[in-house]
Amino acid sequence: MSVSSELNALQRNAGSKAQAPFDDLPGFDTMLARLSARLITLRPAEVDTAIDAAFGSIVEALDVDRCALLRLDPDGRSFTRVSIFTRDGMRTAPLNERVFGYPWCIERINRGQAVIFSSADELPPEAHVDKASFKRAGSQSMASIPLVVAGEIYGTLNFLCLDRRREWSEELLVRVRLVAEILGNTIARKHVQEENQRLLAFEKILVEVAASLISLADADVDPAVTNGLRRMAEFLHAERATLWNFERGSDDLLPSHCWRSARVPAPARVHARALPFLSARLKAGSVARIDGLADPSASADSHDRDTLRALGSVSLLALPLMVGGVVVGAITLDTVQTRRAWPEALEPRVRLLGEVFATALARQQAERSMREAQAEAAQHRERLAHVARLHTVGEMSAGITHEISQPLVAIENYALAARRHAAAGPAGNHAKVCELLDKIAAQSSRAGAVMRKLRTMVRRHELDMKRVRIDQIVDESLRFAQMEGHLHDVAVALRMASGLPDVVADDIQIQQVIVNLVRNASDAMGALPGAGTKDLIIDVGVLGEAQVFVRIEDTGAGFGEGALERIFEPFFTTKSAGLGVGLSLCRAIVEAHGGRVHGRPRPAGGAIFEFTLPIAEESER
Ligand code: ADP
Repeated sequence: MSVSSELNALQRNAGSKAQAPFDDLPGFDTMLARLSARLITLRPAEVDTAIDAAFGSIVEALDVDRCALLRLDPDGRSFTRVSIFTRDGMRTAPLNERVFGYPWCIERINRGQAVIFSSADELPPEAHVDKASFKRAGSQSMASIPLVVAGEIYGTLNFLCLDRRREWSEELLVRVRLVAEILGNTIARKHVQEENQRLLAFEKILVEVAASLISLADADVDPAVTNGLRRMAEFLHAERATLWNFERGSDDLLPSHCWRSARVPAPARVHARALPFLSARLKAGSVARIDGLADPSASADSHDRDTLRALGSVSLLALPLMVGGVVVGAITLDTVQTRRAWPEALEPRVRLLGEVFATALARQQAERSMREAQAEAAQHRERLAHVARLHTVGEMSAGITHEISQPLVAIENYALAARRHAAAGPAGNHAKVCELLDKIAAQSSRAGAVMRKLRTMVRRHELDMKRVRIDQIVDESLRFAQMEGHLHDVAVALRMASGLPDVVADDIQIQQVIVNLVRNASDAMGALPGAGTKDLIIDVGVLGEAQVFVRIEDTGAGFGEGALERIFEPFFTTKSAGLGVGLSLCRAIVEAHGGRVHGRPRPAGGAIFEFTLPIAEESER
């Protein structure tokens, strides 16, 4: 019968008998109303103290000697006294003590049945153990009402008279049951609130750990995962939290990350056949829980038990980890010293946290593979760039010979002149000889600069990204292209914006891009029949907020039919001696720098090529 129907019944009785509902215990109903009003507004942390306080008024209003709340222990064989109030001057019983010796009562309470007697002698013969215990404790009359919390037997609420006999009338029992129901609801609400608080607290950990794993540098992911495992383990009072991978092929479990408290052994590889029950469950995407290895009801296979024992595991919660719908491993929480049960309500969150870890680790792995692939691509690109540079240098050999032979001829002439002046005698010639020697020095450094430039172009080098000035790179590239001699009949207009920001680049590769575009422009202009004007216009400036651009315009032949779509294809060339790798290499280099390159026809005739590079970020400056 529910509280309200009992109250109704009570009121109907009261109506038919007398005006006062329960004359024996004046003030009881008022006390009950006050009690339930007070209990209903409590925060979880206040509930225990409020129940303790309420017991005083209950004892008073019911005219009993003691009121005690006993919680059923998890093994179902004993109670623990969690709340007690004994009338002043009477002997009391200790709080938080396990209470044994009442097997018959426990069995009844477990079935949801009350135990009520005015004297222990009324108990049936099969309750002889309980009877003896009651006598020992001096409990003469008792009403013990099962307390139901959230549909489960939580324990019992005992109302006792110690050294006096108490008759338990129907009306009294109705009230006693009401008290039990109110307290049961209060405790249930407290449990729900506590559970919600726990879920919220775990959610907070989950969010914080997930946030800490976003955008971490590769090297920081592992310590962040281990730290997340620690936070989860500490919250759930686990002594060890481990992430496992299923090894491809063998299905063995390999520990990848673990947090464990002091003196708890590290986990090691577990062969699939050593954990048949657990690995089958995990592979099927199900949770496995073992709440104490000694418990015969635990559902693990005996192989599993031996393996877990070897791992030192007493109570274990194992959840599968899925990435992209595939079970890739597991997350386990276990204890090695104390046996414990794992809160089921937290399972989905533990699983989610495990998947946050697994995803972060998968991302770390993917990033590593991508970096390796990028490094490999950069190596290939540099090899190709090197070959292309060798080719350029080969093609430029005439220009280079000219660039070097010019200063050599000048050196020879200056040396001969100096010799003549020196031979003519010392008077007045000293200054002239010095002047000629200075000229020799200047010419030899000019030749030296050409040689150095050549060496840079011919040498292979590792990609070297650094902060560089784009205007300097353009200048140097033009000087290099000029060596070729092609530009000697070309009018070069260089228009550089002032205050250009730096870029992060490999200067040799970007020079190669510019030299290549300039050579193509020069080739296109050389291909024009007749002696038209050959203009090369180079613009360097800032594009939007984050890019610099280099634009190279020529007044050459422009693109032939259908050529524009194909010019960036490797080995596409319209030149008889062309290789067709120049532009594809330019694109690869520019894109590897985070920029873009494209070509288009120049409206007034000729072609325009333009590439961009990202401006160095604040931190790189
Ligand atoms: P190659 O110079 O060896 O042909 P590239 O990849 O540098 O190789 O160029 C591919 C093709 O793109 C050239 O053969 C030419 O047809 C076209 N091209 C490149 N630059 C220009 C330009 N400035 N004007 C017209 N066509 C060009």
